[in-house]
Amino acid sequence: MKVILLSHTDNPEKIVAAAAKLCYSEVGVGELMDNLEKEEAGKFVDMLLNELGHESPVEHANFTFAIEGVSRSFLAQITRHRIASYSVQSQRYVKLENFQFVIPPSIENDRNAKKLFLDSMRNEAESYLKLTKLLSEKYSEELISSGISEKKAGRLSEKMAIENARFVLPNACETKMIVTMNARSLLNFFRQRCCNRAQWEIREAAERMLKLVYNLAPSIFRNAGPPCLSGQCPEGKMSCGKMVEVRKHYEELKGN
Ligand SMILES: Cc1cc2nc3c(=O)[nH]c(=O)nc-3n(C[C@H](O)[C@H](O)[C@H](O)COP(=O)(O)OP(=O)(O)OC[C@H]3O[C@@H](n4cnc5c(N)ncnc54)[C@H](O)[C@@H]3O)c2cc1C
Repeated sequence: MKVILLSHTDNPEKIVAAAAKLCYSEVGVGELMDNLEKEEAGKFVDMLLNELGHESPVEHANFTFAIEGVSRSFLAQITRHRIASYSVQSQRYVKLENFQFVIPPSIENDRNAKKLFLDSMRNEAESYLKLTKLLSEKYSEELISSGISEKKAGRLSEKMAIENARFVLPNACETKMIVTMNARSLLNFFRQRCCNRAQWEIREAAERMLKLVYNLAPSIFRNAGPPCLSGQCPEGKMSCGKMVEVRKHYEELKGN
């Protein structure tokens, strides 16, 4: 898995502090910004967010990530987070000649399970290519007989073929995406997906994303992570019971 921070709001805490101060200020934005030192902005945001729980101003800080080498299962999970923008490699437009796949660690570490898994990937890759060829020929004939040129029919038929052949591709199939979230949405994402209850793949991505943004806005992300970092675990009987280890892990991750 590869997670890269592509871009972010400059001086995120200063923008958030200015936005929050503006609500109660008689002076203009320019003057507010000029008078805000970075350190003071951080302290103000800490009080605003972590003491008063006023979350909406942090929506002004945006972060854009590139995420590669993750499964389509991951895609299904991350895109449930609606307060975000996504661009995802298309299986309709990109022919996966030799598709890559993600192997869950527990399968990777079990010889028999891994063999079964790899056989399954091989079969699915073969079916995908066979179906693409079969459908492509069929669509091409149909298009040519409807009066479309051979060259255009070739191009169109392949696109029509891969968008249907992809139905045999597995959840393990690798994908890549660009994701933009504002800090409020990221905090919600980290709360849910850094928790041990989340699946290993999205948890790993969430941790990497948190590591990438933490130092850019330490006051915004001070309590970022699973809910047990700043209070009781809300999972009841489903709790992992590892609050002490989890807290230590996030202290290390944030470099404290
Ligand atoms: C451990 C775990 C297990 C899960 N298991 C399942 C499962 O089995 N089945 C399943 O379907 N999902 C499952 N989910 C997904 C989960 O239900 C959420 O859909 C997902 O985590 C996105 O959360 P969200 O809605 O808070 O995020 P976002 O969509 O980013 O929304 C952020 C916040 O905005 C507000 N909001 C957004 N849209 C609306 C709206 N339409 N109306 C009102 N308020 C809104 C809410 O306050 C919400 O918390 C699971 C998630 C986790 C972490």
